[in-house]
Formats: sequence, C-alpha cells, structure tokens
Amino acid sequence: DERAVIVGAGLAGAWTAARLREQGFEGRVTLLGAEPHPPYDRPPLSKEVLLGTGDAADTALDIDFAALGVDLLPGRAATGLRPAARLLDTDAGPLPYDHLVLATGAEPVTLPGTAGQPNVSVLRTLDDARRLKRVLDARGSVVAVGAGWIGAETATAARAAGCRVTVVEAAHQPLPGALPAAFAEPMRQWYAEAGAELRTGHAVTAVRDGEVELADGTVIGADAVLVGIGSRPATGWLAGSGIGLAPDGSVRADERLRTDAPGVYAVGDCASYPSARYGRRLLVHHWDNALTGPATVAAGILGRAEVHDPVPYFWSEQFGRRVQFAGRHAEGDLPVRRGDPAAGDAAWSVCWLRADGTPTALLTVDKPRDLMQGRRLLQRAVPLDPALVADPSVPLKAT
Ligand code: FAD
Repeated sequence: DERAVIVGAGLAGAWTAARLREQGFEGRVTLLGAEPHPPYDRPPLSKEVLLGTGDAADTALDIDFAALGVDLLPGRAATGLRPAARLLDTDAGPLPYDHLVLATGAEPVTLPGTAGQPNVSVLRTLDDARRLKRVLDARGSVVAVGAGWIGAETATAARAAGCRVTVVEAAHQPLPGALPAAFAEPMRQWYAEAGAELRTGHAVTAVRDGEVELADGTVIGADAVLVGIGSRPATGWLAGSGIGLAPDGSVRADERLRTDAPGVYAVGDCASYPSARYGRRLLVHHWDNALTGPATVAAGILGRAEVHDPVPYFWSEQFGRRVQFAGRHAEGDLPVRRGDPAAGDAAWSVCWLRADGTPTALLTVDKPRDLMQGRRLLQRAVPLDPALVADPSVPLKAT
C-alpha cells in the first residue's frame, strides 16, 4: 500500500490530508503533530479566544479525519528525516513513507533570556491563548513586545478586558515588517483611542519578573509580558537531513512545492517557494497560503503538475477594525490612496501600482469591497488608471 505521511497537524497538514482524499488518493494517510490537540485554526486565538466572543470555544478544523480514513497521531513529533531510506524519525520510532509532506509551520521568535519566566509568553498555540486569556481575565497589566499583528490584536483584547496595556516596539512605527511608515502611522491613533500606550523606537533590553526594561532605562511594570516579535519556520528538526533550507530557515520548495528530496513536499508557514508572479522566492506566513498550498501538494502526489503562486492575502482584526492586505509591492511601485485617514476618513485603502498601472498590492481598512474587487484585479494583473484608483467613489476596476 502506498503511504503518505504528513508532518505537522496544523492548517496546511490537515488540509493536505483532506485534499489527498478529495483528489482520489487511495493509499494510507498518516497525519502526525507535536501538539496534543486535534488540528485547529490559529487566527481566532488572538481574536475570539482572547476576547471571549464568537466561536472561542470551538477552534477545531471542520474535517472528519476518521471518515476520510486518515490516521491522526496527535502528540507525536518528528525528530529527523532520512530521505535516502524514506524514513521519518519520530519520538515514537521511525515511520516509512512513499510521499512525505513537511507542514511543521512556524514558531515564535523569543526574547533572549526570557526562557522559563512564568509571566512571559508567546502566542502561537491554543494552550498559549488559553493561558493568556486567564491573564487578561485577571485584569493585570500587560506589556506586549512588538507592534505587529499579534501585538495589536493582543492589545485590543487586553484593553477590552480592562487591562492596563503598553505596547513596546523597537521600530519607529507600528507594523514595521508589513507596511511603509506612511500607511502605518494612522494606526497609532487606534492604540490611543483604545487606551493602549504605544511606545515606538524603544528596544527592550531586559525582562525580569514583573517588569520590562527599555534601552533608555525606563522600567515598565508588567503582570504579564507577551512577546510578539515574529516567527520562524519550524525546521530545526531537519538539520542534518540534507533537505535544502533557505537562509530564513524555510524549506526550499519549488513552484510545485516539491523539496529537493524525492517524494518530499513542503507547504504552509515552513516552506518558501519561487513566485513567478513576483519574481522572487516568497515565505508567506498567512492562513490563506496554508489553505491553498495543500491542493498543489495533493495534485503532485497524484502525479499532476500544479503550480502554487497565489496572490498572498492576509487579514487582521484590531481595535474594532478589519485590516486586509493582498499582494506584494516592490520598491518603486506607486501607492495611491483611496480615502485619507488624516482627513478623517474612517475607512480607506491604498493600492500600489507599477509604472504601467498594474496593481501589485492593496491595503484596506474597513473596505471589504475594495479588497474583494482589488484582489481579483491583482490576480488578473491588468493595468488600472491611477486617477480612477484615487477616487474612492469609483469601484476598483480595470479600464
Ligand atoms: P501551523 O499552523 O503552525 O501548524 C504546524 C503544526 O506543526 C503545529 O501544530 C506544530 O506543533 C506542528 N509541528 C511543528 N514541528 C513539528 C514536528 N517536528 N513534529 C510534529 N509536528 C510538528 N493568518 C492570517 O492570514 N490572518 C490572521 O488573522 C491570522 N491570525 C493569526 C493569529 C495567531 C495567534 C497566529 C499564531 C497565527 C495567525 N495567522 C493568521 C497565521 C496563520 O495561522 C498561519 O499562517 C497558519 O496557521 C499556518 O499553517 P501551518 O499549517 O503552515 O502551520
């Protein structure tokens, strides 16, 4: 019997199992994951779970593994890989495979010297979120390190719970990794309105029990510290396996999400792939990428050549707003504003255009229609008229 083994029971791993069955794979499918929980969705962790709203209690993915004939092995971690022997080593012994899918996701970057400190946490897993929720319920003071997506969403929930909140960011703007300063600047106001203190341009130099120290010597008291300074592919366990990794730690996959070892694929947050659309290798840490990649992997395993090169898409819910981002802009692309937060517009977007008018990226704040229309235009990559793009009363459309 042909055997597909999937390592990492997160979004990408779970959907790879489901897509394999959907596309007609009849062999054995084994899905193993280090976490004790059946596969669940992460976006709600920093939203509904922390806020205690919506489907907070039920983040499990809606996939019936038993009905699909998938052997789900929670609480089992891969420890190494021997591609020549087609063996995956795990903490409960080796597993042979014909097809192997690496879907181990990413792990949060931590602050040096904070390991083992009980009041310092990251937010990646359901257990992390439940722990943090208890802290918020106790209405203590919270310091979030990093004004990225996780920091902003955590600050939102912590303020809603009535906590005193300080967000410390080393860069001089919120969302430094994601947005140019000009478009992140209006978000400062969101923190202020929510009653959260945002301190940009401050590096954290030490975290001790109950306090955070900044480079300028300021000390901020904290019952809890949430570190949200980014994540890296969880690929340390592949060291020595011969599987090619990129400098950012991601598994180097090709456009069909194959690695350089026969029968081995990589998908989701742990993998980078060459994008013809953007002319460079992309490492995408977004839900949508982990959801769509599995169809390409399943097709590959079944012998069909499919290419994974979607328009990257991401959303965030922060301070009562829905922020959405699609595409990738490059140096030299022209940002065109649709609506101006400085002039008091609550909803606005920014569309980046190449010199020939081809849209490359779109940021929207409470503009779901712009996002929907713009995403299609990004997909089609047809030139737009900048003057029409700049008029928020005209729907985004090709001319
Ligand atoms: P993961 O979901 O990380 O799953 C990988 C799994 O593999 C994990 O369960 C891990 O324990 C397991 N694993 C790791 N190493 C091993 C090993 N050696 N052996 C066995 N198992 C292993 N994206 C958006 O687009 N919008 C959002 O609003 C959004 N919000 C988010 C909020 C939070 C709090 C987080 C953490 C992420 C959010 N994301 C969001 C990102 C999105 O959740 C990820 O891109 C997505 O989960 C990636 O899926 P994945 O399956 O590749 O990796």
